Amino acid sequence: MHEFLPAKQILHRRHIERIAACEVCGAERETIRHVLLECTMAKVFWEHTKKLAGVKLPHPHQDTWARDLLLAKVCSRREAAVIMCGMWALWMARNRRRHGERPIPVQQAVFWARDTAFDLWQILHSKNGNQPARDVLRWKPPEIDWMKCNVDGAYYPVDGSDAIGLVLRDHRGAFAGTRARWQNHSLDALSMEAQAAKEGIEFALEKGARNLILATDCQELVKLWELGVCQRSLISPILADIQQRSRSSDGFVLLFEGRLCNRVAHQCTKLVSSSSLVEEWPCPPPELHDLLAADCKNFVIP
Ligand SMILES: [Zn+2]
Repeated sequence: MHEFLPAKQILHRRHIERIAACEVCGAERETIRHVLLECTMAKVFWEHTKKLAGVKLPHPHQDTWARDLLLAKVCSRREAAVIMCGMWALWMARNRRRHGERPIPVQQAVFWARDTAFDLWQILHSKNGNQPARDVLRWKPPEIDWMKCNVDGAYYPVDGSDAIGLVLRDHRGAFAGTRARWQNHSLDALSMEAQAAKEGIEFALEKGARNLILATDCQELVKLWELGVCQRSLISPILADIQQRSRSSDGFVLLFEGRLCNRVAHQCTKLVSSSSLVEEWPCPPPELHDLLAADCKNFVIP
């Protein structure tokens, strides 16, 4: 609506792009509307959406299409949710193509849009959907005999890369290991947060944790986890994997902790890049010293 997405025609008007034409179909102007509704690529996508997700794109009005869709004036809100997720997938696919990356098959993109819309719908309409989880302002160690693994994922939508960071500590707040991993191809932020959680439990079990608190700053992930078998989501396979792994521990909890509690894990994601894919530290790297100390300032060691 505000022409925020940098389609070529918009960049051309601002004298950033030399030509405004669409690189896929050769149309004279690549507008946002063109990418999302009119391009050959978009047409194939919406045909598949009708077949695979049962959602038909309503006939869009030339000028008010974005607003009509956002306010669900031309279809139901559920359909509008799928269509908007589809549009996001189309825009991401367009960016991947421009960056010379491997294209995502249309069918996979349609399923992604359908499942993401479904996940978001479940989260927003669950019983506790409108009450944000209580945010704690300070990191707290787990009880005696428990370990806590904070996990985080940083997702960079522009090039689809992401980094995962995790840090394991015991009931005294003592450091028990950290790992970070860089990934060049990732589809979305939620999948990546789920992946971080999976690697967190894997890492903690490797380090001998018997009772584990896995802490994430992604509320959506915790809500989908709590829905258990009732949910059908894009990240179901990853959640099932976490469930499977948790059976080999004596105690396991996945919970939400706000960003202020998750600063060490977040900092870990910055320790890797496309040139250093996986790093693991048995002793805290210097970049984490201050944050680790700050987390331990706020409680008395039992
Ligand atoms: Zn086109």
